[in-house]
Amino acid sequence: MKAMVLKEIQPVEKRPLEMMDLPIPRVNSGQILVKISACGVCHTELDEIEGRLQARIPVVLGHEIVGRVESLGPGATKFKLGDRVGVAWINSACGECHFCRAGSENLCPQFQGTGCHADGGYAEYTVVSEDFAYLIPERFTDSQAAPLLCAGAIGLRDLRLSGIKRGQTLGLFGFGASAHIVLQVAKYWGCQTFVFTRSGEHRNLALSLGAAWTGGPQDSPPQKLSCAIDFTPVGETVPNALRVLEKGGRLVMAVIRKRNPIPPLDYTQLLWDEKEIKSVANVTRKDAEDFLTLAAEIPIIPEVQEFKLEDANTALILLKQGRIQGAGVLRISE
Ligand SMILES: [Zn+2]
Ligand SMILES: [Zn+2]
Repeated sequence: MKAMVLKEIQPVEKRPLEMMDLPIPRVNSGQILVKISACGVCHTELDEIEGRLQARIPVVLGHEIVGRVESLGPGATKFKLGDRVGVAWINSACGECHFCRAGSENLCPQFQGTGCHADGGYAEYTVVSEDFAYLIPERFTDSQAAPLLCAGAIGLRDLRLSGIKRGQTLGLFGFGASAHIVLQVAKYWGCQTFVFTRSGEHRNLALSLGAAWTGGPQDSPPQKLSCAIDFTPVGETVPNALRVLEKGGRLVMAVIRKRNPIPPLDYTQLLWDEKEIKSVANVTRKDAEDFLTLAAEIPIIPEVQEFKLEDANTALILLKQGRIQGAGVLRISE
């Protein structure tokens, strides 16, 4: 099978993914073999490529996988051949530790990430345990469904962790794949959204999706905000976001790694008055499944920009430059 493989940590501008011909992976017991039709392109891949997040090397990246069940391993009974399924960032967890038992499998010490600890979707096929794959609702095309599996699932987790309630106000810092989905869920929940981004194109997209206000990263919105989510890779966003929060407001950090450090935070000005900062780690199967259902109900149809598998390096460079409109998706087969 064709696969774009990461063999060495490098800046993404060096086009580090290499097209290779690999054997189609074997299905073991309880697993399914998925013929991949689309795979989303995510900031996490940039972190893996540039060494901010430790991936197994060599690895096939990609954790927003949509495809059809091509074969079933011994004992796999959840799906039929030909079912359209998705695979998200959570590839496996132990199922036995106190985190797993409490429904926080995202924090499991044995958590395995798709396209990080296990080969992912920048390829024609992948295998996964049937317990970590989900049926894709009819109303989405393959490419539309792909970003729902990461950007959407994590977005729902970010929103839940922000503690937002109906009628409250939400600040979004950065407006890429996840934020543009979060905005639509927040609107569905009756919340007003304020979008902070440098990009004029992203501001226009935010307004067209129903943002109440848009501005630059350091602009002041017309009112203080109940909560905020930081999707940017830069440290300066943290004080900017804390500055526009209401007393008791919470800032959720939706990024795994920052490109540069968070500047020192003035406690009295930025954190006092019961403001909080909360990070988000990974996703659970429930996040992915709940989000697919919610997205079909609202509905949320992501804006996607498609690329060929062999153009994965180009897609990642554009992603790093913030030049993808909506979500980037590798279109792998029909
Ligand atoms: Zn992702
Ligand atoms: Zn566990």
